[in-house]
Parts: sequence; structure tokens; C-alpha cells
Amino acid sequence: MKLFTRKAETPETGTAHLCQARGCVNQNAERCRYVDRRGRRCPAVFCASHHERVGDAAYCRRHAGTIRALGETGRDRNLLPDLENRGPSLVNWIASDIDQRVRSLLEEVARPGERVLAEDEVVLAYDQGRRARWERSWRLVEATGLVLKVAITVMEDEDPLVMVKVGHEMVAKGVPPWIARRAKEPEVTEAADRSQRQLFYRFLQENITVAVHRLRERADNPTWVA
Ligand SMILES: [Zn+2]
Ligand SMILES: [Zn+2]
Repeated sequence: MKLFTRKAETPETGTAHLCQARGCVNQNAERCRYVDRRGRRCPAVFCASHHERVGDAAYCRRHAGTIRALGETGRDRNLLPDLENRGPSLVNWIASDIDQRVRSLLEEVARPGERVLAEDEVVLAYDQGRRARWERSWRLVEATGLVLKVAITVMEDEDPLVMVKVGHEMVAKGVPPWIARRAKEPEVTEAADRSQRQLFYRFLQENITVAVHRLRERADNPTWVA
């Protein structure tokens, strides 16, 4: 018989446990239901004021974000990212914030016969080297196929570095300020936080706008190589 100290077990759903949110004394906390593709279950335990529900299940905020971001993809447990991975929720968060701007930009440059298709879920995709990435995209399409694609991407092994691609070009790349500063200066004022976010989104939007217009012009004036 083996004798060893078992790690304190994290409570299961439905039992009365103290919420892990700082300063919260609620006893009705539930364990996050997220289980990643390696079968690891999230240890977070939060009360009704500090967890989020997706369907019937309670999740910590990060994993509620992951589950919402993935939509259909999230139904396949083999595709669920590692516990620590923020990729899908980060992609979804940023894509949702700039969604209207990117749609209007593409509608503006669309020609007769072209239309805009916007994804509202994050998908798992692979590059030629089989590197996995989380992606949400907008496409300008015509009857014969894709004209132009804008994508927000996080490589699975580079979380939380966010990349923006227009066509094949990488037009912006960066760690969002609210993540980058966490390690260094956790206490920023609400106003500072807001202005950092605005700057970050403006940076993304401006780069997307410039690149979309440039690609459109290039398509108008093809340079023929002899
Ligand atoms: Zn709580
Ligand atoms: Zn969780």
C-alpha cells in the first residue's frame, strides 16, 4: 500500500466552496468545467458573481472566453487548447472589438459582385509547417473565390502575441497592452487602461486600412513581370 499526501482536491460542481476571487467570501462557488485536450481540468473555483455560464456549465472567465470563442470547434474536446492558453479568447476579444471597422472597410472597397464574409467564431488552422494557430477572419469574396482576407491570429506556441494579416502580409504584431503590463505594473488607472487599449486598436485598424487599400491598388495596377 502506498502512503503519500494527496494534493488537496479541488471541489466538484455543486458542493459548497469558497470563491477564489480576491476578497470574495461567497460559499456557493463552482469549479470551472473546462477540460483541455490533454484531459486536464481547470482548478479554478468561482461563485456565481465571479464565474460565467456558457450553456449550462460554469467556467472561469478565461475559459468562458475560450469556449465562446471556439463555438462549434469547442464541442470537440480534442481541439480544446491547453489550460494556460489564452489564444482563442484573445483572438475573439480583439476581433469582436474591431469587427465593425473591418466590415465597413471591406464593404467600402468591395466592387460590384463582391461581398464581405465575416466569421464570428475562432477556428484552429495550420500553416504549411503544421504549426497551429487560432484565427478569426473577414473575407472579401467574388463568385470565383477569395479576393482578400483579413485575419487576427495567435500562433498556438506564441500566445499572447497577436498578429494581423492582410492577404499574405503581416501588417501588425504585438502583445496587447493589458497583458504586457500585467507583469510589470499591475495597477494602472482606468483612464490609462482605456487610452492604452484605444491606442492598440487604432494601431491595428490603421495598419489594416493601409494594407487593404494598398492591396486593392496593386490589383488595379498589376505590374507585369516579363
Ligand atoms: Zn466570488
Ligand atoms: Zn477555467
